[in-house]
Amino acid sequence: MTRTAIVTGGTRGIGEAISLALQQAGMSVAANYAGNDEKAAAFSQRTGIPVYRWDVGDYTACQEGCEQVAADLGPVDILVNNAGITRDATLQRMSLDMWEDVIRINLGGCFNMAKAVFGGMRDRGWGRIVNIGSINGQGGQYGQVNYAAAKSGIHGFTKALAQEGAKFGVTVNALAPGYIDTDMVAAVPETVLEKIVAKIPVGRLGKAEEIARGVAFLCSEDAGFLTGSTLSINGGQHMY
Ligand code: NDP
Repeated sequence: MTRTAIVTGGTRGIGEAISLALQQAGMSVAANYAGNDEKAAAFSQRTGIPVYRWDVGDYTACQEGCEQVAADLGPVDILVNNAGITRDATLQRMSLDMWEDVIRINLGGCFNMAKAVFGGMRDRGWGRIVNIGSINGQGGQYGQVNYAAAKSGIHGFTKALAQEGAKFGVTVNALAPGYIDTDMVAAVPETVLEKIVAKIPVGRLGKAEEIARGVAFLCSEDAGFLTGSTLSINGGQHMY
């Protein structure tokens, strides 16, 4: 049976690797993105995966986007809430806009997207939702009160929604990556990054594919007894 999957922010970075891993697992994948049309078009041409532009922080756009995906590919069985941004600054320097953008997109996006697809999954008796959290939502990070709060919120959101989905065959899990070699991490100053890598026991940044393989497992038929959990893939940087 071919399952339909939506990956938000699925056209580059970790999301690109997730889209490809789900495609390789035999799923019919739709990759959402925010505005980088050129990157999205190149990705779609390279992979054959259709791309859909909308802002996950916009509730109505999420409803309409998911309806379009369902019309094109079939009812949505799998949702990977991967889209995320950073707007880093210490609390003293952080503007209200920086706070609100990160909460709206990173955490609000999970709510908006889940609202659009959860009912259908429940009605059909099968679904997988994977929310991409972060090591910095687990342990906090200097200069990231907005991002850490949003990611920590994702971990709570996951456990609460998992309880609502459990009886209906819908699993909800989080995956908390450590530092992964993508554009987001490329924006971190080199001196800061060196200090971060020094704290990773395996001695390197992670690869997007290493996160994607974890997501593919959480989305698989085999993972039906796994719900409400957080899978930490971080090179041993943060252990619970
Ligand atoms: P990138 O910055 O490389 O890619 C972000 C993706 O999200 C892009 O496809 C972008 O679209 C999309 N996106 C951004 N804002 C929106 C929005 N409002 N609506 C829809 N799509 C949006 O990020 P990463 O691959 O590094 O990160 C992916 C996820 O993993 C994020 O949630 C991040 O917080 C998390 N994470 C990353 C870590 C890392 O080390 N890289 C560590 C821990 C967690 P477009 O191309 O159009 O801009």
